[in-house]
Amino acid sequence: MLFHSTGLGLDRATLERACEDEDVARNFLEAILWPDGPVCPRCRTLEVRIVRTQAGSWRCRTCQKYFKLTTGTLFEGTHLKLHRWLQSVMLMGTSETLVTDLMRKVGMMPKTAVAIARKLRSAEVAGDTLLIQLRLLSEHVKTATPLRASDQCGAGDE
Ligand SMILES: [Zn+2]
Repeated sequence: MLFHSTGLGLDRATLERACEDEDVARNFLEAILWPDGPVCPRCRTLEVRIVRTQAGSWRCRTCQKYFKLTTGTLFEGTHLKLHRWLQSVMLMGTSETLVTDLMRKVGMMPKTAVAIARKLRSAEVAGDTLLIQLRLLSEHVKTATPLRASDQCGAGDE
C-alpha cells in the first residue's frame, strides 16, 4: 500500500538493501515522502516537472522553486548519502552511544558522527515526521519478520 507507486515491498530485505544501496535508498524515501509522485515541499502541489539538466531535481509549477527529494527534510543540507542516513536512523533505537556506533558501524569520521547524531537527536526531540515514519517502519520490519517462524513452531519459548 505504502509502496504502491514504486512497487517496492515493505520488508526486511528491502530495508536492508536501502541501507546499502543509494538507488534503493532513494526509491525507498521517495515511496515514503511521495507516495503519489513528487510533491513541492512548499506548496504541497503535485504540479511539478522534472529538471532534465539537473539529476534529482524538480521545479514547482506554482511557486517556480526548485527542489530535491531531501528539500525540507532533516536530510537536507548534508553530504551524507541517503543509504548512510538510513543506516544511522536504524541505529538510533538500539544505540546507547550513537556517536560511537556511527563511527564504528556506519564508518563515519568523528566530526561527522557528532554532527549527524546531533541532527538526529534534535529531529527526534522536534517530533520530525519523516524520522518518526522511518523509525516506525524499521520497528515494524524488525518485529514483523521473526513472527512467522515462531507462529509456525508454536514452541512458546517465552
Ligand atoms: Zn511550490
